[in-house]
Amino acid sequence: MRNIYMDHAATTPVRREVIEAMTDALRESFGNPSSVHQFGRTVRKRVEEARRNTAEAIQAKPKEIYFTSGGTEADNLAILGAARAHAEKGKHIVTSAVEHHAVLDACHFLEKQGFEVTVLPVDQFGQVSAQQLESALRDDTILVSIMHANNEIGTINPIEEIGHICRERGVLFHTDAVQSLGKIKVDVNRLNVDLLTVTGHKIYGPKGTGALFIREGIKIDPLVHGGGQEKSIRPGTENVAGIVGFGTAIRLAASEQEEEAERLSGLRDRLVDEVIHSIPDTRLNGHPTMRLPHIANFSFPGTDGEMLVQGLDFKGVAVSTGSACTSGSVDPSHVLVAIGLERGTALASVRFSLGVLTTQEDVEYAAAALRETVQMLRS
Ligand SMILES: *Cc1c(COP(=O)(O)O)cnc(C)c1O
Repeated sequence: MRNIYMDHAATTPVRREVIEAMTDALRESFGNPSSVHQFGRTVRKRVEEARRNTAEAIQAKPKEIYFTSGGTEADNLAILGAARAHAEKGKHIVTSAVEHHAVLDACHFLEKQGFEVTVLPVDQFGQVSAQQLESALRDDTILVSIMHANNEIGTINPIEEIGHICRERGVLFHTDAVQSLGKIKVDVNRLNVDLLTVTGHKIYGPKGTGALFIREGIKIDPLVHGGGQEKSIRPGTENVAGIVGFGTAIRLAASEQEEEAERLSGLRDRLVDEVIHSIPDTRLNGHPTMRLPHIANFSFPGTDGEMLVQGLDFKGVAVSTGSACTSGSVDPSHVLVAIGLERGTALASVRFSLGVLTTQEDVEYAAAALRETVQMLRS
């Protein structure tokens, strides 16, 4: 049987260079980076090298990088941390209907603490409108959180423009760049962002690693309290091997981004063409051009997403119904509902996400497997 992995937006295999760097860190660098002796100093160097690699990949300064346990924690630190630090200025936050649950649920939690959250709708392609965002800003708005690119449908938001508006109005701006990192350019200065989330396991790094970019001069309150690590914004003895692995993964992701994006978009276009031409009544979700190179989300009315995933798995092709976090639940994806799909169509959708493992042969096999599975479910 085949084993074709087309779920890279859920997680990615850890690349060889990362495993080697981590193994070496675990073997050779056991010291505590806060210790002043040579054992500590050696490890501190490795952590700071990873910080430089991370900063360089997104055009930030090393002192603007705060290592976290991944994307969820970085999103929470940005949103809850900014809300707590700036609550005296106002209690209004703006986000969008298609954000990852790490952002949406952090915002909902703040609502229970007396904050007011405006959730902007998106258009049929999943994009937030910069004009609509501008109209939503108020004198008491302290934070805007809009994702760079969507994890289910791949739509890219006009982050530069939104960031420009926020800066003019003196409002903090956070973006979740978990899916865009390594696929399109992520430059904190071009994007005009104050806070930016990245994670390791979507870019061939280890799970449980990531970082929050906090622009110099921006005040954020910590969520946990303890020692002075990460300037007391994220205290706790550093996950040294994880940080080293993350630093290696992000360095390679940034250096290979252009080439990989071109390869992946070629494969993605091939998949989309095959599917649209061979399966009647197919709907491709997301923006036609402002899209990530590796994600293709389709709806096949008259089928069921969970059954498509199972049928494809039976043929050796691993895909997902969208966000892995909600797999198994019967609720349609909040993203597909937000772009205007009817409940039945939203529930008849699958996401293919390509990556380093994907070959042209895989794409052809997957398209044929999909055609057979859709046909079977529709008959
Ligand atoms: C995967 C993902 C996250 C969560 O990151 P973890 O490191 O798994 O906590 C957040 N945002 C987006 C857009 C994601 O795709």
